[in-house]
Amino acid sequence: MNIREFAFNLQKLYEEMGQTFSAYQQASGLSCMSGCGRCCLNPDVEASILEMLPLALRIYDEKNVDEWINRLETSEQEYCLLYQSVSEGKGQCGFYQERPSICRMFGVAGSLDKRNEVTLSICKFLKEEYPDKVGLLKSEKKSDAPILMHWSSRLNTLHPELIKERYAINDALRRALEKILFYAQYQEI
Ligand code: SF4
Repeated sequence: MNIREFAFNLQKLYEEMGQTFSAYQQASGLSCMSGCGRCCLNPDVEASILEMLPLALRIYDEKNVDEWINRLETSEQEYCLLYQSVSEGKGQCGFYQERPSICRMFGVAGSLDKRNEVTLSICKFLKEEYPDKVGLLKSEKKSDAPILMHWSSRLNTLHPELIKERYAINDALRRALEKILFYAQYQEI
């Protein structure tokens, strides 16, 4: 596998994914509140090694691998180390272009139940902020929702092995950086 070509293809899929989920959120009137980064403070955010490869490659290009590995190994922060806090409850992703799939699909997304009908997963802060819009969405527009499983399957086709296991996001990044260092021993990166 040529890692750079692989990361390029993944980044293209990320862009399509981000645009699809964002367009649905906007059409539903349920866009994230400006500056809200509360989902990033959740210590349960997980990602696979595969999803963190574009960011790991960027860190490699910027010659910051050792610094980041050290930070990831020594920090006791449980939530994502990529998050940049601005003030209480407000902040932003420090690597927005390379963020993994969960960060692109979070907010408003669809799943299929046993009867193949769409059920919605909606961020609890959006539910609190826009109860009327959430009610309307559930009754009228949920069948248009982008389906999490469809997008996960597309990711899966890129590299089933590297997406199989999921880790806490900081651990996933550390493993992705180690993977890049491993590839660097055998191929021109
Ligand atoms: S990668 Fe970015 S968007 Fe995702 S949890 Fe971390 S800071 Fe938030």
